[in-house]
Amino acid sequence: MKSERTLSIIKPDGVEKSVIGDVVSRFEKAGMKVVAMTMLTMTDEQAGGFYAVHQERPFFGELKEYMSSGPVVVMVLEGPDAIDANRKIMGATDPAQAEPGTIRADHAESIERNIVHGSDSPESASFEIPYFFPEL
Ligand code: ADP
Ligand code: MG
Repeated sequence: MKSERTLSIIKPDGVEKSVIGDVVSRFEKAGMKVVAMTMLTMTDEQAGGFYAVHQERPFFGELKEYMSSGPVVVMVLEGPDAIDANRKIMGATDPAQAEPGTIRADHAESIERNIVHGSDSPESASFEIPYFFPEL
């Protein structure tokens, strides 16, 4: 298994629900290292740039509003197959479809307010990591 880096975000609902510690702990227990971490509040424009792949989707406006509605924790995780490993720990986008024991099954309230973001491919990770951590 190759070592990879992936971008993870604890979204505004995750920060609001005080599950930062729980989420980070799940990643660490799964063998991933947090190699960068910051808390920030995105502007609407920053959220739109981050989610530019979704700009034609009907939920794009709401997604920008949600993602800029409060502080988020942005981090880079590193470990074997970190991109897929993180997606498995997160669970499916819609918490109703997420495997039991995943972050989204345990904490998310809807397909939109689903607690965490994780890069979905090496291409996404190589756009998303420098979007927040240009020095990495
Ligand atoms: P994921 O975060 O699992 O990679 P997507 O990339 O498909 O999911 O979508 C990005 C984010 O947009 C989701 O995490 C969620 O917050 C929001 N979203 C996705 N689908 C919908 C939808 N049908 N309605 C509202 N918001 C959505
Ligand atoms: Mg995605």
